[in-house]
Amino acid sequence: MHALTQPVLNQVTLAPSHHNPLLAYLIDQQSLVLLVFTFGGMLLFMVLEQVWPRRRSGEIPIAHWLTNWFLASLNFFILFWLTLQLGQSALLRSYFPDLGVYGRFHPAVAIAIMVMVTEFVQYWMHRAFHRFGLLWRIHAVHHTDTTVDTTTSHRTHIVEAAINTLAMLPVFFVLGAPALVLVFYQLFRVFAVLLNHSNISLPEGLDRVLGKFIVTPGFHLVHHSSESTCTNSNYGTVVPWFDRVFGTAREVPNNDSASMSLGLEYLREHRDSRPDRLLLLPLMWRRWGLPGLRRD
Ligand SMILES: [Zn+2]
Repeated sequence: MHALTQPVLNQVTLAPSHHNPLLAYLIDQQSLVLLVFTFGGMLLFMVLEQVWPRRRSGEIPIAHWLTNWFLASLNFFILFWLTLQLGQSALLRSYFPDLGVYGRFHPAVAIAIMVMVTEFVQYWMHRAFHRFGLLWRIHAVHHTDTTVDTTTSHRTHIVEAAINTLAMLPVFFVLGAPALVLVFYQLFRVFAVLLNHSNISLPEGLDRVLGKFIVTPGFHLVHHSSESTCTNSNYGTVVPWFDRVFGTAREVPNNDSASMSLGLEYLREHRDSRPDRLLLLPLMWRRWGLPGLRRD
C-alpha cells in the first residue's frame, strides 16, 4: 500500500489559525510540503540505497525509476484535485459531520487512537485488495515490480489510490483530528512507506528494535516476494502489530530475503512494467490470460 492516501485531507477539517508561523505555514501549504517531502524523500532514499544497499543488482534500473515516478506523479496530482473537491463539498460535510472523537481525549491518547484506527482500517483494506479478484487486478500493479526499492512505495494504480482516499475520508471525518496533527501524520506515513520499501540494509539490532514499532524494509520485502504464500502476508503499511494479532506476520531470515525473487510469478517481462500497460492491467487481465487469485 502507498502513502498517497490522504493528501490535503485536512481540507476536510477546518484548519485553526496557528500562532507559530512555521506551523501555520505547514498547514497553509500542506500540499506543497507533502509534495516536497514525498519526492524529496524519495530522492534522498535513492541516494541512501546506493550507499547501503541490501540487494545489489549491478545495473541501474532507469526504466523502473521512470515508471514509478510517473505513477507517483499521476497519483499525486489527480488525488490532490479529488481531495480538494471532496474536502470542499458541503454535501459531504453534511453526510459525515465531524464527530470530533479527537477532542474528547488527552492529545496523546487521541493520537494513539487515530494511529490504531487508521492502521487497522489500512491493514484490512490491504487484505481486501489481496482477497478479491477485482481489487487484486488493481493492486497487482504495485506487486509487478521485480526491483523493489523506495520508488516502489508509490507505484500504485490510480484507481487504488482513489479507493483509498474515498475510504479514508469518513474515517478522518469521524476522528476529527486537528489539521496540524493530520499534516504530521501524513508526513510520518510517507516517511514510513519510503523507508519500508527501500533497498537499504539496516543493522540487524536496529532492524529488530525498529521492527517492534514500525514496518521495516526486511519485514515488508517478504510481502513483495514472488511466492504467493509470502505475498499474502505482512500486510502492515506502517505498523506490524495487526499482522501479529491476526496471524499474517511472516519472518524470513535476512540472508534468505537478500536472495528472494521479487514481483509476481507472472508479468515479469520488461514490457509488463510499461506505464501504459500498468494502467490498462486491471481491464486487460482476462484478455492477457493472467491467472486468478491463489489463496495459499
Ligand atoms: Zn500488497
